[in-house]
Amino acid sequence: MGPWAITLLMIAGFAGFAALAWRKLAIVAALQPEVRWDRVGERLGRLATMGFGQSRMVAGEWKPGIMHAAIFLGFMTLLVRKLNLIAIGYDPLVVIPGVLGGLYAVAKEFVEVAVLAAVLYAFWRRFVLKPRRLEPNREAILILSLILVIVVTDFLFDGFRFVVFAAEPGIVHERAFAPVGSALSSALAGWSPASLAFGLHASYWLQMVTVFAFLVLLPAGEHFHIVTALPAVFFAREAPLNRVPPVDLEKIMADDAGDDMKVGAKTAADLLWKEGFDAFTCTECGRCKDSCPTFLTGKPLALKWVHDKVKHHLMEKREAIVAGNTDDLPPLVGEVISEDTLWACTTCGYCERACPIGLEHLGKFYRLRQHRVMMEGAFPQELKPVFDAYESQSNPWGLPADTRGNWAKDLGVRVLESAERAKDIDWIFYVGSAQSFDARAQKTARAFVKILQAAGVRFAILGAAEGSTGECVRRAGNEMLFQTLAQSLVKALNGLGVKKIVTCDPHAYNSLRNEYPEFGGYYEVIHHTQLIDTLIGEGRIAPRRAFEGVLYHEPCYLARHNGEYEAPRRVLAAVSRDTPPEFAMNRDKALCCGAGGGRMWMEEHIGKRINVLRAEQAVERSPKAIATACPYCAIMLRDGVAALGKGDDVPTRDIAELVAEALEPTA
Ligand code: SF4
Ligand code: SF4
Repeated sequence: MGPWAITLLMIAGFAGFAALAWRKLAIVAALQPEVRWDRVGERLGRLATMGFGQSRMVAGEWKPGIMHAAIFLGFMTLLVRKLNLIAIGYDPLVVIPGVLGGLYAVAKEFVEVAVLAAVLYAFWRRFVLKPRRLEPNREAILILSLILVIVVTDFLFDGFRFVVFAAEPGIVHERAFAPVGSALSSALAGWSPASLAFGLHASYWLQMVTVFAFLVLLPAGEHFHIVTALPAVFFAREAPLNRVPPVDLEKIMADDAGDDMKVGAKTAADLLWKEGFDAFTCTECGRCKDSCPTFLTGKPLALKWVHDKVKHHLMEKREAIVAGNTDDLPPLVGEVISEDTLWACTTCGYCERACPIGLEHLGKFYRLRQHRVMMEGAFPQELKPVFDAYESQSNPWGLPADTRGNWAKDLGVRVLESAERAKDIDWIFYVGSAQSFDARAQKTARAFVKILQAAGVRFAILGAAEGSTGECVRRAGNEMLFQTLAQSLVKALNGLGVKKIVTCDPHAYNSLRNEYPEFGGYYEVIHHTQLIDTLIGEGRIAPRRAFEGVLYHEPCYLARHNGEYEAPRRVLAAVSRDTPPEFAMNRDKALCCGAGGGRMWMEEHIGKRINVLRAEQAVERSPKAIATACPYCAIMLRDGVAALGKGDDVPTRDIAELVAEALEPTA
């Protein structure tokens, strides 16, 4: 077809691609190091399912998921086709011989038809359906148009080639396995030889120029993800999802005394390489917004927007970052993302779970918060008394720490006094601050005690020896205070020989389970709904089916962050006369109540209140009650329903309260 021309086109295309790709990758290489290539087997497994298998893409929303999977499959298959076309540039009669050639021709046509349908659907979606999450995007339209040109010109090229070289046995063989190209060649058979030759060359060169223009465009824009998405999946952070990145404060203080001490992230240069890579990989699909409570309530935070801002900032400051001249870089918070954006996040984890390529968010925000709090003392004013209260009394209300066990005084609950007595109990009930001090949450603790006593479970509480896990202050950026609280609690737990912990608080559950090993706290930790589920399953309690119309609200820290979706539902089903209704946004799409990440203690100044939106979603289902399994969710939903004027009609209960009530004999 033109050996010189295809050679020059290839050199220009690959050189342009490499130069533009390096503009971004050089920045990534200059960011902070972190090992993301350990546990290779697990990473390859994820690459197979989430990357090549497109599991999240299809599971999230099947129609756009199938559309994207078809285009992805098309890229994989058509890579071989493009190599084949490059070879044709040197010898127009090149074919893949034999059975392999036949199979390839069939597969190629099948995939190209699928890609064509997917691209047409993508246009329909953008211009007719216009889903809320998709924002106007000229680059996406250009890329879709280029794919359309590539597929159409490939069909046309086959059509012309099958006629022009109709006497060549290899081409005849290929045509026998290519129904679309063959049908086109039949339609073109009457054209003059000159027109056929022109059509052959025009379709070939139009396609190849488009292919190489596409290649050069990729690293210039958001469609760089075509190249970086699979590596991003491979290098993604390991589970568990919500573990604040460890900070070795002792080492930091020993290494960097005085003004040089640095905790958290301040400027772009403090980002980890993977965080920069993620910003360049974001596909802008907007799936991270679908159940993001901040996006849905009008706050200036969606993961997509953060990636977009960080990406543009990295490009803008490229020279300084690559050269290592980072002293004058502006702070990310205030210059790139706003203070409101940083503090709006409830750390619910929806965005990370929904992102089809596993891009990350929480680690970066935790480190930005750490810097604001610990290095600059800049944080929402409402947090100040909360930090002070945790510091002095190990609870957010500042109530006397030695009264922590008072709620249980009339319940005959054993308080573990020594490690010697630990062998007489099966579980330590870690109560947590809310259930120790908040009147609403104490009802849950009392109900849970009643269940444990009814089942004959050998358990104890720590009483005044219990301290806060500090989970909330850690997520609010006060790592120093968190570590003080964590070390103190680990000392108490280990000193008392505690091995097995049950708690009604998903935040404590997450922290004790996933973060405390970092401080020498190794425990078997379960959530109270899991223990109640077991007790019912073993027949140790037999609650009545006493309720109907109870709607279950999913606590993010139990479900999304720790994968427990079923135990609370099984327990609820066991006390329900009907099939419990579900929120429209449930399970991994459940909307957060708005309390996580320290938000429980902050005002919502912008947009609608998140708990009110969740309450509206609840009321839409006409429930008789809302059940949950987290003290903070219970408080937030109670307040949300009350704000709608329905507090008396739709009570909010913890699942433990329902079970305890269902254990009572009927009147
Ligand atoms: S963690 Fe939740 S609140 Fe924060 S950005 Fe992601 S989805 Fe939104
Ligand atoms: S962060 Fe993930 S889900 Fe959100 S727009 Fe980017 S690729 Fe899509």
